[in-house]
Parts: sequence; structure tokens; C-alpha cells
Amino acid sequence: MVSFYPGPSRVYSKLPVYLKDAYTQGIMSINHRSEEFVAISKKTVTLLKEKLNIPKSYSIYFVSSATECWEIIAQSLIEKEAVHIYNGAFGEKWFQYTKKLKPHVKSLTFNRDEGLLPEKLTFNTPEVICLTQNETSNGTQVKHEIIQSVRKNNPNSLLAIDATSSMGGIALNFDAADIWFASVQKCFGLPAGLGLLICSPKTLEHARSVNDQQHYNSLLFLDDMMKNWQTSYTPSVVEIYLLMRVIESVKPIDNIHKTIINRHQKWEAFFDSKSEQLNLLIKNKSVRSQTVLTVEAKPEVVEKVKVKAKKSGIILGEGYGELKNSTFRIANFPAIQRKEIALLMDFLHDFI
Ligand SMILES: *Cc1c(COP(=O)(O)O)cnc(C)c1O
Repeated sequence: MVSFYPGPSRVYSKLPVYLKDAYTQGIMSINHRSEEFVAISKKTVTLLKEKLNIPKSYSIYFVSSATECWEIIAQSLIEKEAVHIYNGAFGEKWFQYTKKLKPHVKSLTFNRDEGLLPEKLTFNTPEVICLTQNETSNGTQVKHEIIQSVRKNNPNSLLAIDATSSMGGIALNFDAADIWFASVQKCFGLPAGLGLLICSPKTLEHARSVNDQQHYNSLLFLDDMMKNWQTSYTPSVVEIYLLMRVIESVKPIDNIHKTIINRHQKWEAFFDSKSEQLNLLIKNKSVRSQTVLTVEAKPEVVEKVKVKAKKSGIILGEGYGELKNSTFRIANFPAIQRKEIALLMDFLHDFI
């Protein structure tokens, strides 16, 4: 089976080797306060910064998921005010989650095909502005230039970016925001169970003024522990090890980015030029996600494609939320191989 599901998604083919190494080297049983763990943790953070171009001054924390990052941001960085800007199901979920913890947060939705107009995005200094860079549910993305203008127009707020389905796949300009997060079962090509939270020095400054100390995952506590390359709880040591091996083996992000863009252009050409039954949901090219494609068709066609694909050994991503019956999704993640994309294109030819 080849999985094109946009998370959990296809893992890197080398994973069985890394997993076996983890077992034979005793990684699965090491103590999370041991020197061995510290070495793995330190190396993983160092490699992540190198390979993804994350500024040296930013901190990286190991958490369990992107959802946990939503919680940490709400608990440790928002005392009263925040604004969530979104156009799809994941952005909305994040907003709803924050709202449960901090009822006064506001939201601003935008049309998925129109994108964001940064000149309209000036707020009355909320503590945090929350933005989903890559909306996995509908296949849209917010480009860097827009993130940069939001930052420029709101210099006294922290900008938090959910990049769960793009980090590790496309080059992100980490300098343009204060908080970035992702989980590893999307573009990192790993099994689920680990999240990465990345924070600027300004984020830590604000965390100190909020001074949330109530939770096992309070940001200040995570930061204290990470000063010694450790976590506040027993982490999935094996996942961190697997991440280390993957990051060690992959090319720098600029190279991966080129491959992803190139493959994405091929997918666009495939659907835009030839297809009548199957069309990309997002018509505006400038807001299309490069890592998640959402394909729209009549519900009976969607059903037929999914069932037939499964019989051919291909797993497609289900439509998400309100788009469940009218779309399916295709991950364009780095762990997917060229020959697998060719296989899927061949298969889809019968429907276009
Ligand atoms: C998958 C996803 C999440 C949730 O990730 P978990 O690892 O399940 O917490 C959050 N945001 C976006 C944009 C996602 O694609």
C-alpha cells in the first residue's frame, strides 16, 4: 500500500532500519535523564536548526502533538486577548480550543479562494495572533509575504503559526514569526507521537511576564528542562531518535523545497490542463498549498476513485469536515517517492 494521506502519512522507507538500530542500540529503554538521551536530544535540536534554517536564538521543545502546542500557547502566552485568523477546519479547531481555555479570544475568517489581505490585518495589540500557514483540510496556504506583513503591522503582538502540514516540506522563514509548531506525522515522514514547538526569544520574554506555572507543559517549565536538553515528562525517546536519524539523512530544506514545488507544479498541470471530472478545489493558484492538494469531484466520483484506489494499493486522503464527500486529498510530502506519484497519476488518468 502507498499512502497519500496528508497525515498520518507515508513514512520514510529507511524507517525500519532506524527502528531496528534503536532496538539493537538499546535506545528504547534508555532513561530520559541519561547522558545518552541528552546527546540524542541535543543532536536532534542542532540538526533541526541546521537543516530547516531555524534561527540559532530560537528554542525548540519536544511535545506530543500540534494539538498540545495549541494548549501550551493558550495557557502560557495568552492572558486575555488573542486573534485567530483562519479559513478552514484546522484553524477553526485551534480557535475553538483556545476559546475553551481563554473565552475572550476573537476570530477572523477569510475566504479560502481569496486569501488574506494583510493591509486589513492590523489589530489592537492582542498578545498573540494565531495563523494556520497550511490549512490541511482544504489545501490552502498563507505565503511568507503575508506572514511578514502581519508581523510588520502588529509589532507588539506575538505571531503564532501552525505549520503542521508544511514544516519539513517547504522552506519556512522562521524569522517572520515568533512561534511555529508541527507534528511529525506529516512532512517529516514519521509515525505520529511527537510535536515540535519552536519559539523566539520574544516569546520567552512574554511567557515570563504571563508566568504560567500550573501545568506539566507550561512553557517556562519546558524551557527550564530544555536548558539541559530534557523534557518535563518521559518523552517518546524512540521518536526523537527516529527524528534525529531522518533529519540527519534528508537534504537541507531548500533542496527539499525545490522538489516539492516541482512535484506540485506537475500535479497542477495534471489537474488543470487535462481533467474534467477531477478538479483542484482551490482555483486561485497563489493560495494553493504546495504540500496538500484537495481534489474536487461529484460525490459518486469521489467514492469510486477512493474505492478503486484502495484496490490498486493506493490510499487517498479523505475529504475533511464539510468537504468530506465532495473532495479527496493528496499529500505532496517529501517521503513519497517519484515512482509512487507516477503510479497515482497513472491510476487517476482513468477518471480525468
Ligand atoms: C494534523 C494537523 C493538526 C493536528 O496535529 P496533531 O498531531 O493531531 O495534534 C493541527 N493543525 C494542522 C494544520 C494539521 O494539519
